[in-house]
Amino acid sequence: MKANCWYGTNKLSVEEVPDPKILNSRDAIVKISSTAICGSDLHLYNGYMPTMEKGDILGHEFMGEVVEVGKDVKNLKAGDRVVVPFPISCGNCFFCKKEMFSLCENSNPNAPLAEKMFGHSPCGIFGYTHMLGGYAGGQAEYARVPFADVGPIKIENGLTDDQVLFLSDILPTGYMAAEQCNIQQGDTVAVWGCGPVGQFTLLSAKLLGAERVIAIDRFPERLKMAQEEHDAVIINYEETDVYEALQELTGGRGPDATIDAVGLEGHAAGPMGMVDRVKTATMMENGRPHALRQAIMCCRKGGTVSIPGVYGGLLDKIPIGAVVNKALTIKTGQTHVHRYMRPLLKRIENGEIDPTFVITHHMPLSEAPKGYDIFNRKQDECIKVVLKPGS
Ligand code: NAD
Ligand code: ZN
Ligand code: ZN
Repeated sequence: MKANCWYGTNKLSVEEVPDPKILNSRDAIVKISSTAICGSDLHLYNGYMPTMEKGDILGHEFMGEVVEVGKDVKNLKAGDRVVVPFPISCGNCFFCKKEMFSLCENSNPNAPLAEKMFGHSPCGIFGYTHMLGGYAGGQAEYARVPFADVGPIKIENGLTDDQVLFLSDILPTGYMAAEQCNIQQGDTVAVWGCGPVGQFTLLSAKLLGAERVIAIDRFPERLKMAQEEHDAVIINYEETDVYEALQELTGGRGPDATIDAVGLEGHAAGPMGMVDRVKTATMMENGRPHALRQAIMCCRKGGTVSIPGVYGGLLDKIPIGAVVNKALTIKTGQTHVHRYMRPLLKRIENGEIDPTFVITHHMPLSEAPKGYDIFNRKQDECIKVVLKPGS
């Protein structure tokens, strides 16, 4: 089959690799009809995540048709159309039973590597480093899906791929990012980053009752989408002082919740930006947490800072003093996607949510390297790329 393989920083190649096979009785093989490029994939593409190996197949947002199932997968059969969640979860362990699926104890065969880094290991994730399991990803014609009796959900209602694909990751991610802010009537929620995750976070904050959402970024097309789709107040951080603007918008108090939907490749001008760039280049720091610092500094006292943005290791100059002295709550995590897929599918079915608005580009799988390049550089007003293996 053809697959999009990682060969080093900014080096990808779509090439022939062996077809995946059923290895365990709870596996399924899925023939992929649509697969997307995630902001998290950019962290691999740009070389921020350790334990990638040459030839690794990327991709963790995918859907398609089941072509084969292991003998213990009773809920799926060949021909079923499914969306696959990016966390690989057993469904039976301490964490899965508590619906904390991204913390599954049974899906990362390389847990000791992750334990060195984090103390304890999260779940395995498709196409996302050897530290997180070394699983082949879904930017390919086929994928092996472990624990297929737990993760994939069937799509039986004729919705298009574009309408349901993002149930695999970014729609639940935006939803969980907003849900963990415990939004109350009248709340103002500020979101850093207007990429696909930021867009679904803004949408979800509105859905969960925020009175006002504020969107922060620097790309005009992303800010425009935030304004048009979610009626967000927009702040271009290159033109406006974000802290001052948020203070002014909230009567000097700060937003009730602040959400970092940027992650470890945050961008900043000025001296602090320079310090982080030097430190990441020399491996003295594993990311540039500009958005996180601002989200903490800008949040109102007693508020919640929610972090869907991905961070991989150690960061500098996080204002923990502000967290303590303002009595902030920090909420974060790889998304417990399984928990949200069915309720969000219902909201898509009844027309409450139409996730297709984030898609700016469809491309054949063979053009994945070009897709990564334009998404990475935010060229051609690219917001979300969907790859089609069949074309
Ligand atoms: P993206 O690259 O499209 O979006 C990031 C946005 O942040 C860009 O629009 C960029 O201009 C903006 N930005 C950069 N620096 C900023 C700053 N200082 N202030 C405000 N905005 C800034 O990526 P995405 O697909 O939207 O993903 C965003 C993050 O979410 C990534 O870190 C990704 O890894 C993470 N993510 C996490 C999960 C999870 O399970 N927690 C799931 C999916 C994605
Ligand atoms: Zn993702
Ligand atoms: Zn589990």
